Amino acid sequence: MGRDFVYVILGGGVAAGYAALEFVRRGVGRGELCIISEESVPPYERPALSKGYLLPEAPARLPTFYTCVGANDEQLPPIWYKEHGIDLVLGTRVKSANVQLKQLTTTTGETITYKILIIATGARALKLENFGISESDAENVCYLWNLTDANRLVGLMQEYRGGNAVVIGGGYIGMECAAALATNRMKVAMVFPDAYCMSRLFTPKIADFYESYYKSKGVIFFKRNALASFDNDLKGKVKAVILKDGTHLPADLVVVGIGIRPNTNLFEDQLQLEKGGIKVNGQMQSSDPSVYAVGDVAAFPVKQFGNEIRRLEHVDAARKTAKHAVAAIMARDAGDLDYLPFIYSRVFTLSWQFYGDNVGRVVHYGDFSSGNFGAYWIDKGVVVGAFLEGGNKGDNEAIAKVVRLKATVNDIAELQRAGLEFALCKSQLVAKRYLRYAIAGVGVALAISIAYFAYGYGKSDV
Ligand SMILES: Cc1cc2nc3c(=O)[nH]c(=O)nc-3n(C[C@H](O)[C@H](O)[C@H](O)COP(=O)(O)OP(=O)(O)OC[C@H]3O[C@@H](n4cnc5c(N)ncnc54)[C@H](O)[C@@H]3O)c2cc1C
Repeated sequence: MGRDFVYVILGGGVAAGYAALEFVRRGVGRGELCIISEESVPPYERPALSKGYLLPEAPARLPTFYTCVGANDEQLPPIWYKEHGIDLVLGTRVKSANVQLKQLTTTTGETITYKILIIATGARALKLENFGISESDAENVCYLWNLTDANRLVGLMQEYRGGNAVVIGGGYIGMECAAALATNRMKVAMVFPDAYCMSRLFTPKIADFYESYYKSKGVIFFKRNALASFDNDLKGKVKAVILKDGTHLPADLVVVGIGIRPNTNLFEDQLQLEKGGIKVNGQMQSSDPSVYAVGDVAAFPVKQFGNEIRRLEHVDAARKTAKHAVAAIMARDAGDLDYLPFIYSRVFTLSWQFYGDNVGRVVHYGDFSSGNFGAYWIDKGVVVGAFLEGGNKGDNEAIAKVVRLKATVNDIAELQRAGLEFALCKSQLVAKRYLRYAIAGVGVALAISIAYFAYGYGKSDV
């Protein structure tokens, strides 16, 4: 039993949705494209699961967050795939892949062959078992990676409203879940081994702002600490979380967000890997020319960082690598992706954005007590990263622009004083400079045209 396609996307998450839209815009033929996904619904904006989906009132539900609404683009409901002749194979896991034969085999035994494969298998949440702790399957222990997880969490929050929740992990999933649990009127304790939350990105000063805000919402932090074991009732349900330092935390609900691992397993002995992901070039093409990789699973050269290979677990990277792979496949003249790394989060009424890289010297600015603040990362005299809490569209575009342009910093004290103004001024200056070049260009073109016509008319007169 088998089917044959020109293009196959393996995985049906964020990247798959954006790739599908790009395929259609570039004129893919009916019956040429197939998407295989283990999930039972078409591609959706996964970040919604830890934000709007968990709201106690008017929560976000499908179809409102099918891709590609997250990028303010077309929304792709199930019918869209049908209308465009795309085979959407849902609820189906691919169990093996043979890159040489260009063939995938599903758990139902079906073989699907392709000319071009896009791997968009994303990542999976790490389990407590990966760290030697059992009980992941207790009825009140949750992870949050897909719709099934989110529905389970919503059900448990409703069941235990007003009860105790323990969040294990201080990364963005832990932070967003803790905010959602507190908003759902649960008493929340957060446990993580680092000295402060979001330690891979935040500075201690930035983390301090968010931790203080969370505390004002009733969240209690157990930092430099870790889960040791669970105390269960006779039915196996977790009653309390026991920490390494012996603290007992009562728990009606435990949410675990301790990191993710890219889903490379089907390809590990067939394709080149780097940084834990499938290594691709600037066109998202892997070590096998007929296989591309996009999203969380791809490790790609980031031009902004001197073509250093990075694997970025951010939704924006998933959207843009997916679109770029399709452009490279269909147009064959797409050039290399020029990507500016970007991550964002929204918790309570707060919202932050970060662009670039968090290396070098940090310069904080603004008023941390009122939540009007940001930071720049300066390396070798230029801005390489920028963070902003609560910025509007223009502010966020401005910080993105100074990072993109690697704006020069001559005076750190002045940068700290100017704060966001630095980005706003620089980005306007740059815009003006481009405008000047454009006007100058038009002027030159006009002068050439006048000279040409004057010369041409003169000749015809002869
Ligand atoms: C709760 C949550 C909140 C997030 N919030 C943010 C945020 O605020 N900001 C941000 O920048 N990023 C956020 N992210 C990260 C972002 O969602 C990911 O970077 C993005 O989803 C990656 O897209 P992807 O297509 O590569 O992978 P995914 O969206 O994970 O899709 C992978 C797909 O592949 C399928 N699959 C895997 N293996 C197989 C197989 N063998 N057979 C068939 N199908 C398979 C999976 O079922 C899934 O459908 C969040 C993630 C989560 C889980």
